[in-house]
Amino acid sequence: MPTPTPPPTPSQPPTPASPTPPGGHLLEVQDLHIEFRTGEGVAKVINGVSYHLDPGETLAVLGESGSGKSVTAQAIMGILDTPPAHIRSGQIRYQGRDLLELPEEQRRQVRGKEIAMIFQDALSALNPVFPVGWQIGETLRQRLGMSRADARRRAVQLMELVQIPGAASRLGDYPHQFSGGMRQRVMIAMTLAMEPKVLIADEPTTALDVTVQAQIMDLLADLRRDLNMALILITHDLGVVADVADRIAVMYAGRIVEHADVRSLYRAPAHPYTKGLLESIPRLDQRGGKLSTIRGLPPNLMRIPSGCPFHPRCPYVQQVCVDVVPHDLVLGDGRTSACHFAQEVHDDRAS
Ligand code: SF4
Repeated sequence: MPTPTPPPTPSQPPTPASPTPPGGHLLEVQDLHIEFRTGEGVAKVINGVSYHLDPGETLAVLGESGSGKSVTAQAIMGILDTPPAHIRSGQIRYQGRDLLELPEEQRRQVRGKEIAMIFQDALSALNPVFPVGWQIGETLRQRLGMSRADARRRAVQLMELVQIPGAASRLGDYPHQFSGGMRQRVMIAMTLAMEPKVLIADEPTTALDVTVQAQIMDLLADLRRDLNMALILITHDLGVVADVADRIAVMYAGRIVEHADVRSLYRAPAHPYTKGLLESIPRLDQRGGKLSTIRGLPPNLMRIPSGCPFHPRCPYVQQVCVDVVPHDLVLGDGRTSACHFAQEVHDDRAS
């Protein structure tokens, strides 16, 4: 990864995150089940997802398109379309409160101010007819009641925080006058205006070229550290999170199939799906030869395969995989894997 220029120190840093409630995590998703009810049937998109996050921590949530990673994030934000989505059961606890039980007015207070989200497509998230400085300032005026002059000053600070060169002189520029990477920085600045304690980044670099991807990832890592935010990075690309994440939750067919700290997972995956994802990352030290891929396609969530949902694609499959749903196995290093042969896959001894 190229080394980015260090971020300027903000003269007025956002308030540090508040402490985790005693005995709990800052954010905790517990046994979440979500289905989509459509004219064609019921799609079980989230099937018992649990994960947690503490201040200053980065969790990467990884999976192919349709694995449920973005739907979980939308449920945390409270922006799921209901219907067709229906939260069947589970809890989303933030600082000890279950967000799913909060009235919409209180939910709105949490959204953006406590937990914020940035999206893949910065261009469509920004309003094309207003200058970016105005858009950042408007958030500050509307939600924090700042005066016009204070909002302008703070907008410059935020643009400097996300390393936009010549920030003060670019306040009057429109979104189309920024490159893709710079637009993503503007959107991150807008999101940081509310000083959230949890930032969810949903595929924040997918639309960008590789060098800019690395710069945005490094920026998010710097901001997380400097502001003590908790960060959830949603991605389909295991390659982009290696240097940034503390832990990785791998999702498949609406379940977390492996959850481990980043080093253990890269060193020796304990689920065949994770192993397949790792083997499909291009490596600079392996020139020539064919890149490995995971055979088959993700399942139709209206007809999830019996037993282990990954069994039609799994090179380790046995009859028990077709008949019995695997539960989470806890391995020696504390990681979990929803595979009957987790230890064998980890040790790479399965037949
Ligand atoms: Fe493969 Fe069986 Fe493990 Fe599922 S339970 S991932 S099919 S080995």
